Amino acid sequence: MTQVTSTGPFGTTTASAWDHSPAEFDFRSDTLTTPTRSMLAALESINLGDEVYSECTATQSLESRIASLLGKPSALFVLSGTMANQLALRALLVQPPHSILLDSRSHIQLHEAGGVASISQAVTVPAVPSNGKYLTLEDVHQHAILSNDVHFAPTRVISLENTIGGVIMPTEEVRRIGEWARGEGIKVHLDGARLWNACSVPEPSAELLGEYARHVDCVSVCFSKSLGAPVGSCIVGDKRTIANARHMRKAIGGGIRQAGILTAMARVGVEEVFFGGKLGWANAFAKVLAEKWTALGGGFTLPVDTNMLWLDLEGRGIDDGIWKEAIEEGGVRISGDRIVCHYRECSHVNYGSEGG
Ligand SMILES: *Cc1c(COP(=O)(O)O)cnc(C)c1O
Repeated sequence: MTQVTSTGPFGTTTASAWDHSPAEFDFRSDTLTTPTRSMLAALESINLGDEVYSECTATQSLESRIASLLGKPSALFVLSGTMANQLALRALLVQPPHSILLDSRSHIQLHEAGGVASISQAVTVPAVPSNGKYLTLEDVHQHAILSNDVHFAPTRVISLENTIGGVIMPTEEVRRIGEWARGEGIKVHLDGARLWNACSVPEPSAELLGEYARHVDCVSVCFSKSLGAPVGSCIVGDKRTIANARHMRKAIGGGIRQAGILTAMARVGVEEVFFGGKLGWANAFAKVLAEKWTALGGGFTLPVDTNMLWLDLEGRGIDDGIWKEAIEEGGVRISGDRIVCHYRECSHVNYGSEGG
């Protein structure tokens, strides 16, 4: 790879970052994917209306596209996946005492700075999935708090995540949990930061997106992870929930003025990266790596359903220090035992007739 560097007002940069993404050899996460030239080009043709005044057509167009893809009445663009989850939960909850039942490994539980405590005054009830992969209705039964006993904070929301660690949660399980929750008057949120990945096997399916969303009240999807946009997520749900989230978004400083600059790029991500089938390349790349690792006698701590590999280093008897050195020598970056594939590592490789 040749790197063309130039010095500009912001220091020395790689002039060709739009073509040679810094993510090319970086497998720490799919958040590292960078905007494409076509995203840059899309900025030329947007109007620059103020979104807080509801005058941004690019944003309105993205929101209605995402709402209709997921089969919900309304959608809201927000600045990050964390903001999407936090606003969705805030909008679904009413007032304490209340609790959120979720997977003990979920992003909301581990990686959102305890936001539900400060923003929603909620306690979380983390459940360890008994199948080791994803939550089932049986896990939910075991952990849901249905009692009105004053000692407890009743479950008001069940929060699911798909994919979770790259593992696909089957639609059937989402349906079982959703139906049961509805019967109990409990809302369901789906953190779908990587729902695009779950719906890319074996190829991109709008139908599957809708099928997942049908059984839950609220879904968040992320544009800056695998899809490569620089910023943003959307929340979808009914009109009241989304209006509530929009109001709260303003209160926490999430009102964006010329939002079209961000939403036009996100739109290209949806159409070109998701519908263009590029997430499938990342899945295929993960499968190739998985086969190679298996051939070397390696195993995994989670199934390789999509773009992530969780290597069982301990099971293969590999010392952490030696592993780190080997990875550095190889000129790639990964995060411990986790490898996250994304379409950017494939952008310069010819995978066949598609020319990807
Ligand atoms: C990345 C991620 C988020 C949120 O990401 P931000 O960095 O806040 O955009 C939320 N949920 C899951 C499952 C994620 O992987």
